[in-house]
Amino acid sequence: MATSPIRVLLIEDSDVDATFVTRLLTSNPELTFQVDRASRLGDGLVMLQSTDYDVTMLDISLPDAHELESFEQIRALDARIPIVVFTGSDDEDMALRAIESGAQDFMAKGHVTGQMLFRAVRFAIARQRKVLGIQAAADSDPLTGMPNRRHLETQFTEMLVAAKEKDAPVSLALFDVDHFKRVNDQHGHFIGDAVLKRIAALLTDALQDEMSAARFGGEEFALLMPGHSLDEASEMIDSTLKRLADSPMQLDDLSITVTASAGVTDVDYDDSWEETYMACDVALYEAKSSGRNRVVSRRRSRAQEVV
Ligand code: GH3
Ligand code: MG
Ligand code: MG
Ligand code: MG
Repeated sequence: MATSPIRVLLIEDSDVDATFVTRLLTSNPELTFQVDRASRLGDGLVMLQSTDYDVTMLDISLPDAHELESFEQIRALDARIPIVVFTGSDDEDMALRAIESGAQDFMAKGHVTGQMLFRAVRFAIARQRKVLGIQAAADSDPLTGMPNRRHLETQFTEMLVAAKEKDAPVSLALFDVDHFKRVNDQHGHFIGDAVLKRIAALLTDALQDEMSAARFGGEEFALLMPGHSLDEASEMIDSTLKRLADSPMQLDDLSITVTASAGVTDVDYDDSWEETYMACDVALYEAKSSGRNRVVSRRRSRAQEVV
């Protein structure tokens, strides 16, 4: 059965080395390689942007890049592509640094055989898939499949930097299911889990634009809302809570309706994640203590006080 070729971006300034590597790969009888060569880093970056490669093979000494600079620029452009680094035969330190920075393998020039090259490419692709899989698992909640708290905290930092540049608001909402213990007590943990999955789906459905939702743990969820002022965020959360309260869940032969409470806060650019989270949690607590099934908002951003 014909398989699609492995697309290799070879960034190598030496014509001799480039021809050698290309010939070794393309003469492999077991798999088809399609090799595109760039002789400068700049050209390689352009090609990387326009074509979907499976692997980059990178000569560490290029005329337009110093040491690991080339590696870093490729990573900045494409965080996912596996990279195999070619080094001079006496440059193991540099090779090691490349691996520590996330290269999948390195090969010392002058010692390369077809079989080694072939294996290096295939293993680099497999290894990188594994790494990306582990990263994805570390960032997601196994029950609902949605992002977890760790992931949302990372996104918070990234979103805040972007929002500050644009002088745009960011809001955060925390949800806690009301009397969820009763669901477990009355119907069992399995049904409780199913209810949590339905809530996750409802929150994910409600996402607009750049928003991001996460399961925070237990029966708590969070929504990060860039581009949303406190008022806009509160309104959106209010309608999401209403939709939840008005949507009985059919599970086996049961019909279960749950409500949730939420706290919302807008983010001050100078606030840390902890400060934002605590302010939101106080708002959530107020929503609970004032009767549940409601949203309470707390303003933090000084920029939006004066309207
Ligand atoms: P409140 O309205 O004050 O939030 O009441 P509550 O019962 O929701 O609050 P509490 O924090 O006392 O209970 C949360 C419950 O959520 C207790 C715990 O057993 C349950 N829970 C946490 N994680 C899971 C889970 O993954 N699956 C299931 N089925 N239950 C969970
Ligand atoms: Mg070179
Ligand atoms: Mg709770
Ligand atoms: Mg609860």
